[in-house]
Amino acid sequence: MRKQIIAANWKMNKDVNETSEFIYAFQNEMKGVVTAAEVVICPPFIALDTAFELLQGSPFKLGAQNLHFEEDGAFTGEISARMLKSLGAHYVIVGHSERRQYFGETDEIVAKKVKKALSADLKVILCVGESLAERDGGVTEKVLERQVKAALAGLTEQQLASLVIAYEPIWAIGTGRNATPQQAQDAHAFIRKTVAGMLGEHASAALTIQYGGSVKPENAVELLSQPDVDGALVGGASLKADSFAKIVKSSPKEIPTAH
Ligand code: PEP
Repeated sequence: MRKQIIAANWKMNKDVNETSEFIYAFQNEMKGVVTAAEVVICPPFIALDTAFELLQGSPFKLGAQNLHFEEDGAFTGEISARMLKSLGAHYVIVGHSERRQYFGETDEIVAKKVKKALSADLKVILCVGESLAERDGGVTEKVLERQVKAALAGLTEQQLASLVIAYEPIWAIGTGRNATPQQAQDAHAFIRKTVAGMLGEHASAALTIQYGGSVKPENAVELLSQPDVDGALVGGASLKADSFAKIVKSSPKEIPTAH
């Protein structure tokens, strides 16, 4: 049985007040809703504390959007895994394409961040995905394989249990153009096969693989019903409580059996 996870990645949006407003509104939208999905909210660093307080006693988990791979030291402006833990973060997003693209995060840096987060007992949402040029050039699988192998190198099966992969084709992020359900399914099946080759069928069958890239209430049901799509990482459509709640409600109640 695989866990379905629906996560909100707010990116550099919402201050502390807006975070509070969202959480009140979202909890209201979710009143009485039964879902098998785990819901994760990833506000900017400055709002983690507020979000944690407001989420206390709710089933919703708190996530951060980034971390530094060092324990502590002279890294002005950076945030460590231990700091995130102390704010009540449960998850951390690692290797988002915006971090790779605008902040120079290489596969090597991403791998260090994954290890650091796991060693600090944070669950990792590892983002992978190809650019449009890579898809058009027919190298999608090559790119995904490289990213997955680099990030997971040296991990144990036990560590993999604390990791989620988000397949996020870069051409679908923030563009309004989502991958088709079949494109998502094919990429997810390939990622699962790649992980199976590294850590075995058993571990890979249990791995949650989220889809991310222009998920919205209108396309969520179809995407989330694909056999290897185990949830969503949502950017733009997670900024409004009602649209994020609609996406959470689109998650299948029954978790498809791993194959
Ligand atoms: C994201 O940034 O992780 C994302 C999927 O964004 P959007 O939903 O806006 O495409």
